[in-house]
Amino acid sequence: MIIYGYRSSHLRTEPIAGSCPACATPDSLHASVFGRYAHIYWIPLFPIGKTGGSQCGHCQFVQQPKEMEPGLREAFSAVKHSARVPWWHFAGLLLLVIGIGWALVQNSDAQQASQQFITAPHKGDLYHVRTENGRYSLLKVQEAAGNSVKLLPNTYEMDQNSGLDELNKPENFDTVALELTRYELKLMLDKDQIVKVERPDAAK
Ligand SMILES: [Zn+2]
Repeated sequence: MIIYGYRSSHLRTEPIAGSCPACATPDSLHASVFGRYAHIYWIPLFPIGKTGGSQCGHCQFVQQPKEMEPGLREAFSAVKHSARVPWWHFAGLLLLVIGIGWALVQNSDAQQASQQFITAPHKGDLYHVRTENGRYSLLKVQEAAGNSVKLLPNTYEMDQNSGLDELNKPENFDTVALELTRYELKLMLDKDQIVKVERPDAAK
């Protein structure tokens, strides 16, 4: 179950001029403003407006803006307007933007690496490929000489690209190599038939 909804936090309380409509005590009113925000699992996502009302410090009489006299409502509006929404009401949205930014950078780094690796294949390079039936498998560079690249196909397939590295065991590869040209490999990468190129020793 996903827990979500909205919550409020206190933003500002200020005295406002006028006397209490209930007990007539002068200068006993103050306006309180609350900021509402949407949350998911209590993590604030984004603000969804401000609410609040006036309260009498003497008899505790509370009024919602729609119940107020025009003069009082105007004073309340001024306090509401000046109450600032704190940054943390946007925390979830910020995290999301940071997360998306990070994922984009990672993805673009991986794409650059793939482009770079495919133009100069090394023995041991691992190609994540999309098969014709929409599944995923691996090709491992056995030998790269001149324009010709020999690749050993993995004999297994997976439904998803993630986790494909689990198939990377020597016994899972066919012993008969496919032979492709560098140009063909580049085309496969451009067409997304090769989705990623890994160079196992490049990270070290
Ligand atoms: Zn009062």
